Amino acid sequence: MIVNMSDTATSDQIEHIIQRIKEAGFTPHITRGTERTIVAAVGSGGRRHEIEALSVAPGVDNVVAIAQPSKLVSRQTRPTSSVVDVGGVKIGGDEVVVIAGPCSVESREQLLTTACGVKKAGAHMLRGGAYKPRTSPYEFQGLGIEALKILREAREQTGLPVVTEVMSTEDADVICEYADMLQVGARNMQNYALLRRLATTKKPILLKRGPSALVKEWLLAAEYLLSGGNDQVVLCERGIKTFETATRNTIDLASVALAKELSHLPVVADPSHGTGKQSLIGPVARAAIALGADGIIVEVHPCPERALSDGPQSLDLAQFERVMRGLSDPLRPLAGTREGAGVA
Ligand code: PEP
Ligand code: MN
Repeated sequence: MIVNMSDTATSDQIEHIIQRIKEAGFTPHITRGTERTIVAAVGSGGRRHEIEALSVAPGVDNVVAIAQPSKLVSRQTRPTSSVVDVGGVKIGGDEVVVIAGPCSVESREQLLTTACGVKKAGAHMLRGGAYKPRTSPYEFQGLGIEALKILREAREQTGLPVVTEVMSTEDADVICEYADMLQVGARNMQNYALLRRLATTKKPILLKRGPSALVKEWLLAAEYLLSGGNDQVVLCERGIKTFETATRNTIDLASVALAKELSHLPVVADPSHGTGKQSLIGPVARAAIALGADGIIVEVHPCPERALSDGPQSLDLAQFERVMRGLSDPLRPLAGTREGAGVA
């Protein structure tokens, strides 16, 4: 339930509502907007009728039910869009944020070359996997702590804040020490023990949508983070499983616009995992931005044919530079489709 305070409500009246929500067995969550304050009553097992009755309390405008199952994530609870600050880079603000880097950190040289290259081309943040969720146990699993150290060095050299995946609760502390933002990978979107653990950190989280997750389930996964105390969450659409096999996943671009409609959280798109194809990264990135994405996350490798993971969907540095040029005005037609794709 949401208690909308009137724009003339006093702080004593707001405090009274907060107390009454606690007495009714709910947890109060307060959003102070520029014009009015909203107090959400969240939780299970509380007495709803006691909240409904608050509609006649002094300073209250009205009391409404939250339509979505994800309460704190809902735009109804917080009508203004949230901005997540990652080491000074603001995701959800006026500027579209580009996060770029290799799928996996493979060596110091590979990462530093990529980091300097993407920075020069205009990227705002660096990505790179240290702990990799590979489909086969025989594939490259990531360099672990060694990769974290290399990521830190790249951040020191370039100033780009770093995002890397955390796969297990055991790795959370060490990754928090080295990274600016923690990625919850698609396969772990519904790992509730991991979500609960990450909710207790103060780090920004990049929450990827599960390959088979409904938008509702994705938002509820974010709700675990917010209800656990961490509202620094960015949603990431990275494609879902459908009957189509021509692309690696089917990127659900409508869900980017929908997630922004339903939620106040920033939303980014991942055209690399979303398509699996170098040539589609540019066009899909442009489309995502045109429909309101707050950013994109793109895989870049100095030599994609030698990449230890996800080479076919990684751009080389020259291709990335061309894609970046095409992002400045996503609705302006490009000279040719090959150029638009960023593939020479
Ligand atoms: C990745 O970002 O490299 C990755 C493994 O992504 P996803 O979890 O979306 O598959
Ligand atoms: Mn990858």
